[in-house]
Amino acid sequence: MNIHEYQAKELLRQYKVATPNGRVAQDAEEARQITKEYGGQSVVKAQIHAGGRGKGGGVKFATDPDKAAELFKAMMGMQLVTKQTGPEGRKVRTVFISDPVDIARELYLAFLVDRATSRVTVMASTEGGVEIEEVAEKTPEKIVKVVVDPALGLSGFQARQIAFGLGFSGDGFKKCVVFLQNLYRLFVEKDCSMVEVNPLVETKTGDVIALDAKIGFDDNGLFRHPDVLAYRDLNEEAEEEIEASKFNLNFIKLDGNIGCMVNGAGLAMGTMDIIKYHGGSPANFLDVGGGATEDAVKNAFRIILQDTSVKAVLVNIFGGIMRCDVVAKGIVNAAKEIGISVPVVVRLEGTNVEEGKKILAESGYNLIVGENIKDAAEKVVASIK
Ligand code: ADP
Ligand code: MG
Repeated sequence: MNIHEYQAKELLRQYKVATPNGRVAQDAEEARQITKEYGGQSVVKAQIHAGGRGKGGGVKFATDPDKAAELFKAMMGMQLVTKQTGPEGRKVRTVFISDPVDIARELYLAFLVDRATSRVTVMASTEGGVEIEEVAEKTPEKIVKVVVDPALGLSGFQARQIAFGLGFSGDGFKKCVVFLQNLYRLFVEKDCSMVEVNPLVETKTGDVIALDAKIGFDDNGLFRHPDVLAYRDLNEEAEEEIEASKFNLNFIKLDGNIGCMVNGAGLAMGTMDIIKYHGGSPANFLDVGGGATEDAVKNAFRIILQDTSVKAVLVNIFGGIMRCDVVAKGIVNAAKEIGISVPVVVRLEGTNVEEGKKILAESGYNLIVGENIKDAAEKVVASIK
């Protein structure tokens, strides 16, 4: 789960990580008021779950309170397009007014979980404001990378190594070390999967502060953080993903045209690979998990069929704890409810497979049987062509 910048900054403050003053304004008048409080100038920032807002026109400097009110009006409700939103952009529903900062240097800092080492990794670079992918490609030597031992946490020497790499000295150096240690504590205690501070700023008065912050959380840890869960903004999530999460289903939207219903994430990966191998492209995958009920399967199938980019469906189920007859009944029930307008290929294997196949065959719907995973993938790709 991701959260907005203004929410991320609330968390940073809780952990004593320095960040500029700022508040969400409800209307233009409040934007004017907050700007007055900040001495007559402010930075007006659109809140969407995507970066690159600055270049897309979602971060603007207000030279006086009236200008802040004007910028608020222009920004609120706009469809903001950035490099990360795709061409359709995102609607701005929240506008954040920030105290302007006199920037001396813009730096880059991120904490993330490196899947290869299974450890929290800190990436830092003096090239702030720029996209890190670009730095990694053109000037990789400018990135400092530190891998944290979970038993030890971010040690003093590591924090100093990063601060040094970021070019700090004297008082700023000490502030950077404290900043890093507090941020690490936040990362671990809140079960984050990613914290990106871009830019991390050294101000002209020598402070070290997070000017922007992006935080992602491990969904599996959310149950123990009701405060974080309260930050969830459904407007920022794909409609089908929200619908799926209501039934404890895992739905991931992709950009192809073959809908996939599978059980288990590993099978999902395998299914997508084999679709690609045969020249197709998945529109999504919906993982019904291990012990889904008939009702959950029905809803899963309905969600896939409602995705308008889906031109064909591949159901690939390996029945273990999950029984094939339960899956078959769920599919047939969904078909009864909303009809099937695209080719559906079903490959079932495992527990109660014969009963499952029988239910599908007797349903009266034109469901294409895949004899095995290869056959199923070939048939679903062929059904579109
Ligand atoms: P995004 O990453 O979505 O473009 P940022 O919050 O990083 O948005 O803002 C983009 C740029 O705007 C920053 O790199 C910085 O130069 C400037 N900026 C943002 N907030 C402030 C602020 N409070 N004071 C001064 N400049 C700011
Ligand atoms: Mg930024």
